[in-house]
Amino acid sequence: MKDDKSLELWVRESHEDFYASEYRLKRTLFSEQSAFQQVDVVETTYFGKMLLNDGLVMVTERDEFIYHEMMAHVPLFLHPNPKKVLVIGGGDGGTVREVIRHPQVEHCRLVEIDEAVVRACKEYIPLTSNALSDPKVIVDINDGVKFVAETDERFDVVMVDSTDPIGPAQPLFGTEFYENIKRVLTEDGIVVSQGESPFFNQNIQKSLLGVLGQVFKKVHLYNFANLTYPGGYWSFTYASEKICPLKNFQESRVKELGLEMKYYNARVHKAAFALPEFIQKALCENLTDF
Ligand code: SAM
Repeated sequence: MKDDKSLELWVRESHEDFYASEYRLKRTLFSEQSAFQQVDVVETTYFGKMLLNDGLVMVTERDEFIYHEMMAHVPLFLHPNPKKVLVIGGGDGGTVREVIRHPQVEHCRLVEIDEAVVRACKEYIPLTSNALSDPKVIVDINDGVKFVAETDERFDVVMVDSTDPIGPAQPLFGTEFYENIKRVLTEDGIVVSQGESPFFNQNIQKSLLGVLGQVFKKVHLYNFANLTYPGGYWSFTYASEKICPLKNFQESRVKELGLEMKYYNARVHKAAFALPEFIQKALCENLTDF
């Protein structure tokens, strides 16, 4: 019998009004309109379970390791002694999972605004959310903007694992937020942030790097392949007063810790900061020279 396509289920992620990706589904596992966004978890035929916020792919079991390893290990192998880490957003738990693999880390606070995201991932995506039950981890359902404005806690590394700059995530791309991030960082502090697409969002990247440049001395961008993000190539921003992501990188630390990785290694760390010409030329005014 001809393959009856009418029986096929697909989820379509539209990015801007000119680009979309589709993922074949087996079934929907969770679907809820929270106070902040539509939260869905679906089971796909190839990418495993998938978290979507407002119809945008956040996490899939097949490729989540890339984003979470690159967000966590780049700053943690650079900071001289990362004891206290703050993750803003990241309610799926994947970034936290990678953070607590570092034995120096004594305490990791996750500040996620939407409890529905944590609940959905705890129920359906243990691959990333199991880490949230670790004794080193505090899950704080709160607005990251408010938290950094009010806290008297100090952190060695901050990771802003946020959605795109819309709705509650919009202030996470602003100057006031990063002035507070600088306030809560210790002397050798590093902040890395979800930095959007070099193909589709250079305007947002320019703006975010400009904000970081107003607050921090060292501002960089690093890239990675990402199977289920639009265009398959994504960025993180990096900022610090003192630590250079290349000059202060001691490859030996990666080898000595000997963590089993699926994407990150010392060569990838260094290569991630080597920007293709179309990116370097577009963003050079906002990037610190090495
Ligand atoms: N870690 C995943 C990945 O691989 O990209 C996805 C990122 S995570 C799901 C993004 C989270 O940021 C969402 O759960 C969203 O609720 C959260 N978020 C957005 N604005 C926030 C804010 N102001 N404070 C705290 N969390 C926020």
